[in-house]
Amino acid sequence: WGAPYFGVNSTGNIAVRPHGSATLPHQEIDLLKVVKKASDPKFNGGLDLQLPLIIRFPDVLKNRLESLQSAFDFAIQSQGYESHYQGVYPVKCNQDRFVVEDIVKFGSGFRFGLEAGSKPELLLAMSCLCKGSSEALLVCNGFKDAEYISLALVARKLALNTVIVLEQEEELDLVIDMSRKLAIRPVIGVRAKLRTKHSGHFGSTSGEKGKFGLTTTQILRVVKKLEQSGMLDCLQLLHFHIGSQIPTTVLLADGVGEAAQIYCELVRLGASMKVIDIGGGLGIDYDGSKSADSDISVSYELDEYAAAVVQAVRFVCNRKSVKHPVICSESGRAIVSHHSILIFEAVSASSYSSLAVNPLSFPYIVEGLAEDARGDYRNLSAAADRGEYETCLLYADKLKQKCVEQFKEGSVDIEQLAAVDGICDFVSKAIGASDPIRTYHVNLSVFTSIPDFWGIGQLFPIIPIHRLDQRPEMRGILSDLTCDSDGKIDKFIGGESSLPLHELEGDGGFSGGGRYYLGMFLGGAYEEALGAVHNLFGGPSVVRVSQSDGPHSFAVTRAVPGPSCGDVLRVMQHEPELMFETLRHRMEEFVHEDDHGMANASLLNGLARSFHNMPYLVASSSCCFDAV
Ligand code: PLP
Repeated sequence: WGAPYFGVNSTGNIAVRPHGSATLPHQEIDLLKVVKKASDPKFNGGLDLQLPLIIRFPDVLKNRLESLQSAFDFAIQSQGYESHYQGVYPVKCNQDRFVVEDIVKFGSGFRFGLEAGSKPELLLAMSCLCKGSSEALLVCNGFKDAEYISLALVARKLALNTVIVLEQEEELDLVIDMSRKLAIRPVIGVRAKLRTKHSGHFGSTSGEKGKFGLTTTQILRVVKKLEQSGMLDCLQLLHFHIGSQIPTTVLLADGVGEAAQIYCELVRLGASMKVIDIGGGLGIDYDGSKSADSDISVSYELDEYAAAVVQAVRFVCNRKSVKHPVICSESGRAIVSHHSILIFEAVSASSYSSLAVNPLSFPYIVEGLAEDARGDYRNLSAAADRGEYETCLLYADKLKQKCVEQFKEGSVDIEQLAAVDGICDFVSKAIGASDPIRTYHVNLSVFTSIPDFWGIGQLFPIIPIHRLDQRPEMRGILSDLTCDSDGKIDKFIGGESSLPLHELEGDGGFSGGGRYYLGMFLGGAYEEALGAVHNLFGGPSVVRVSQSDGPHSFAVTRAVPGPSCGDVLRVMQHEPELMFETLRHRMEEFVHEDDHGMANASLLNGLARSFHNMPYLVASSSCCFDAV
């Protein structure tokens, strides 16, 4: 899954190749070095940037855009297609200001535009596109009210190449009304509900019963109404979206072919058609399998995708003698997934180890138990003497159950219960049946940073970003900071239920040992905006890292700490300033200067800083309450 952007360097660290396969060896970026530099206040203008951390690579974003454009350019040239490709980026995939601004900047040379699906997305797309190419499309999708439509019309007035795509038939009346009121002539598109259906997880919006788009009958009614209103020339774009992660080019070509037929029919009916917008769906190979059978992979490369689209449109238009339309796509996942990496730390690892007990003491431990539990122990010993290991496990289990019952009744004390756990653990280990899977506690919220894992079970590549020249001796699952049993990652790429991991050095990062950094890759699309503040953990810190030809192969060009405790409290309508005041009054009432310990001012200072710090754990024994 890493090619062409990620590999492992000779020191066993993840190497980022910001220009993909065009990256020269000296341009490779050592990811561990980036993490060290980003979290070192010396290099960060005094900013102590905490993990978790999103590292963005704008060079990767640029490479993705250019690769998509050149795949289409090549297909268009080699097939003799008589128009061009002009993509838009659906901002919902990642609305981060710098991601969108980068895409507009990198894409302005080839008229790359934006797609919006809500009013705030439209506002951001309008302002960002002011710095882009004047030909770049601004595609307005999503459910619309009069205000959304007015905004889109105003965008046209501002010389932005805006298209209002009808998702619902009722939107047409609003478009006609508002365009008359504002005296702005709209450019209109229709989203067609195709019959072609993508049956994977991401295809539930496709097909005749899909959530969005117009049926054939509705499209015909739209044409008629536009004609009656003298606005049929405004209809210029046909849009459809089969679903994300389209598994094969066969399904893709089927959908594009069907849409091209509708496009040609609209031409025949008199619309001034110019653009066919094939939606998103260009897939990502999250598991490296290149298999259409996996929901998280696809069986084609970029160039095969582009070739299939161009061929399907060309074939239909040639047969109907229709002028080749501009081909637009709304690829989101394929543009932004690779450009960011989420870095987080494992702070401790637990195996469910129990009290280590010497086998010689077993008879003394069980002596104090009730007769039936002692009977189980005798059966266990006898089975061990006979070498019947399955039977051993059976009696160990019975022994444990009886002890738990007796503990609940009050006839077994806590030391005896722990000792019996120790016996059972010893037996499991001795016969090789103990669970070797450890739980690695990670300084992260799955709900905030990997919501698609929690919500739809989507898998992302997760690996240590260093020590990759050492064989991982352990296997582990990842358990996050939230007080929620769903806050764990126990499924990994390849269908594994645990991850090969290294032993933490010392007692783990937070006890002074070596730190252990993990990376979640290919998560640049959707995860950031979908994430929520469960347990009031906010988003990660973010840095932007560009390839540079200076002494290091990279430069940190922007560093922003994640939301503070105060910020996340505000999300839930709390007012940190008032909260602080309440606590200050309480302190004046209860804490007196002549008390031993810290002075009032120091405690207050510490409290104030708690509101300003991030909610995540800090790898240091010093804290905001240290004497100032
Ligand atoms: N366009 C529309 C209308 C969508 O609904 C979506 C996502 O579901 C996209 C584009 C982006 O799709 P993808 O990220 O698969 O390219």
